[in-house]
Amino acid sequence: MKRYMVWWGALFFLVMFTSLYLMLETVTSPNTGSLARSEAMEGMEAKIHMIEQDLNKNKELIADIKNWVGLLAKGDDNALGHLVKLVNEKSGDVVAVPKKDDLVKDQAQKPVAVPEALKQDSAARETAKPGEIYEVSPGEKVTVSGSMCSLSSSKGANADIDMHQVVDTLPFDNPDGGAWKQGWDVKYDPSEVSTKKLKIFVVPHSHCDPGWIKTYMDYYRQQTRNIFENMLPKMEEDSRRKFIFAEISYFSLWWDELDAMRRDRVKKLIDGGRLEIVTGGWVMPDEANTHYFAIIDQLLEGHQWLNGTLGVRPKSGWAVDPFGYSSTMAYLLKRMGFENMLIQRVHYSMKKYLSRQQSLEFMWRQQWGESF
Ligand SMILES: [Zn+2]
Repeated sequence: MKRYMVWWGALFFLVMFTSLYLMLETVTSPNTGSLARSEAMEGMEAKIHMIEQDLNKNKELIADIKNWVGLLAKGDDNALGHLVKLVNEKSGDVVAVPKKDDLVKDQAQKPVAVPEALKQDSAARETAKPGEIYEVSPGEKVTVSGSMCSLSSSKGANADIDMHQVVDTLPFDNPDGGAWKQGWDVKYDPSEVSTKKLKIFVVPHSHCDPGWIKTYMDYYRQQTRNIFENMLPKMEEDSRRKFIFAEISYFSLWWDELDAMRRDRVKKLIDGGRLEIVTGGWVMPDEANTHYFAIIDQLLEGHQWLNGTLGVRPKSGWAVDPFGYSSTMAYLLKRMGFENMLIQRVHYSMKKYLSRQQSLEFMWRQQWGESF
């Protein structure tokens, strides 16, 4: 009986210790998930270290360049040679911005994981029909309207000049000389000029950025205010004179300073069609980088002021300074009731091309949606 009890006791302790050991083993040993995490962390650390090294290298190079530029500015002619040598030598060391082709290759090698939710979203968009209930996120449903998909699914406008194709054929060179600085030696027969005179429109204007190298108020106090102050008496001196202005951030600031009599004088010029507000946004916005909502927002700001204060609704767009243009702007202005617009900062190769086609005046159609 006693021996039997001892065996049972020994077996009990053995089972208990084995279970305890197995439990501890499970808690302390790393599982596969945390292994993958620590590997990823190590990889990240290595990459951060590489970026740090590249940054230090670039810092040193910039310090060297600064040094030689400083000497060059002081009149040391040898500095230019050193500078060129340095840039040529080191250009390989600097972290290069990846080329578009490399990025495309890279992209092709690594298939991008599309989240499941996004797959479902795009699948739903493709099949969504007007009137259908569409679940945009769990629990949130919208009814598909007729206009929701029309812009993304339509073929796009037909145009007689397709800028995508034209751009591939243009040289984008900058030859010097000719009537245009960018190399177009315009020749004409003087006898033609005497029979058919060229009609030239001169548009006095001033483009005033509310922010560039000075602050909004510094520009106003030192420049923009003087433009308005000169404009008013000069326009009144000669009834043939005209003037256009675009940026309501400044125009409203000046208006706030005017007494009732001077306001009446300004109104008279506007009502007579001699002082015209063009575009009439808060600013002349960038069109290449801005989101369309930001463009609309500043247009609303300017137009509300104009309509509420002067009862003016601009009809012409004036974009002489944006570095890069967007057909979205043409689309937005058209939908706001504009009749025409002007753009200016376009490469001379493109201007020459359109000029030869006698197409500098054109209807600009965006690539998507309906034409207006
Ligand atoms: Zn500007």
